[in-house]
Amino acid sequence: MRNIDSIYINGKFIAPSGTDLLDLVNPTTREVFGRVTLGNEEDAKLAITAAKAAFTSFSRTSVQERSAMLQRLNDAILDRIDELAEANILEYGAPRMAATGRVKLAAANLMDSKEALEQFEFVHMIGKAKVIAEPVGVIGIITPWNASYSQITAKLGAAIAAGCTVVIKPSELSALQTQLLTECFHAADIPAGVINVVNGLGATVGAELTRNRHVAMINFTGSTRVGKEIRRATVDSMKRVTLELGGKSPNIVLDDADFTKAIPAAVRSCYTNNGQACVAGTRLFVPEHRLEEVKKLARAAVESMKVGLPSEADTILGPLVTEKQYNQVQHYISTGIQEGAELVIGGVGQPQGLEQGNFVKPTVFANVTEEMTIAKEEIFGPVLSILTYRTEEEAVEMANNTDYGLGAYISTANLEKANELASRIQAGVVLINGAGFEMKAPFGGFKHSGIGREYGIYGLEDCLETKTITGFDLLM
Ligand code: NAD
Repeated sequence: MRNIDSIYINGKFIAPSGTDLLDLVNPTTREVFGRVTLGNEEDAKLAITAAKAAFTSFSRTSVQERSAMLQRLNDAILDRIDELAEANILEYGAPRMAATGRVKLAAANLMDSKEALEQFEFVHMIGKAKVIAEPVGVIGIITPWNASYSQITAKLGAAIAAGCTVVIKPSELSALQTQLLTECFHAADIPAGVINVVNGLGATVGAELTRNRHVAMINFTGSTRVGKEIRRATVDSMKRVTLELGGKSPNIVLDDADFTKAIPAAVRSCYTNNGQACVAGTRLFVPEHRLEEVKKLARAAVESMKVGLPSEADTILGPLVTEKQYNQVQHYISTGIQEGAELVIGGVGQPQGLEQGNFVKPTVFANVTEEMTIAKEEIFGPVLSILTYRTEEEAVEMANNTDYGLGAYISTANLEKANELASRIQAGVVLINGAGFEMKAPFGGFKHSGIGREYGIYGLEDCLETKTITGFDLLM
């Protein structure tokens, strides 16, 4: 049994004053493998006090000092890469082939923040004024369970680069991963109080961070529902908020695309991270007259993917994080069938031989219409909805007909057309012809997918306040 019974405040692992316990459950077997002691409001207050005290000197550190800290944090994570990857497999169900990459991504976020810090102009002139970028203050970092390591380091890297101190409230479902990551932070020899980590629930530790007047900013990734709650809760204390929220990203395949590449790529994009990715391309738009071909290609793509134990090297799809998430996805699959979508492959229930865990049958629906629940709501499981269009105009209109606006995907042989469509799609990130993400470039959502941008220079800027000084060169 793994007992996580400490929180990290002011450079020390200490017992929380909260005493509630939460079981840590292996999603592959549904067996309890550990327990976390949850912190409470008092613990959050203690962490905020430590972060506030540390801010005075940390906010005045040099670029060189903070750059060295980011390097040490990166190195400390890479020193324990195997252990971190194993925890990601055990606690989250990440397939082995993805787990190591996720740890590397978490470390790379810190190096990208380091590069942004070294390039950033903290002082510049506008007319007679000196304009200075200053750290905003104590930042509350609140993260989800679906990419715990990299979500934390993206926010932490930006905060450290800016000269801000932090209190991190990770997802209560990622306690083991957070414990190991925090041990890496401790090993990196960062000044006490700069990084504080408090396990706990959103309603207690999260809520204290959002209302406490000593916290200047909340950097949150999670659901749109909670993002809205946080935005409301931060009004009275006038906090800045960066909100990275949910998505229902469109994937438009134009008639001239190579369907033998575009359709399998669309399936992979939808099923990435076991189907639990905010940017998953869950709505696939194809020309009406190509539907039968698309269905065949999608079915073949699903059949070629191994759903299995995350510990096995060739598994592509592992289990969902919790039984609750499993039940939610089952509900969406049933709703799709009830509302008249055509089941191409998959369906309700577990894949044969995997009944012991939160495994979902990778599912594809065709003949989905815009009114159907599965076309509108974020499912957060491996469920792809295929919709058809007659004209490109109609495709763009349907792609934008959502409250969300996080990612979008386009496939076509005509790059001019691709760039034109990209300019008309309401989304924070557009990926053309299977291109990957540029992690130094800004990431964030339009509409209900969020406020603010993360990563690289944009992430750093989100953690800074601007001060204008005139007369700095005038003697009385
Ligand atoms: P969630 O919104 O339920 O929880 C996220 C975090 O918020 C957790 O740490 C939770 O404890 C905390 N929280 C809950 N209620 C709170 C409150 N009232 N005050 C303060 N904190 C509170 O999300 P989740 O289920 O952990 O993660 C899945 C969601 O995250 C999906 O909607 C997904 O799209 C989104 N997500 C978005 C991005 C992005 O970059 N846009 C990335 C990953 C995940």
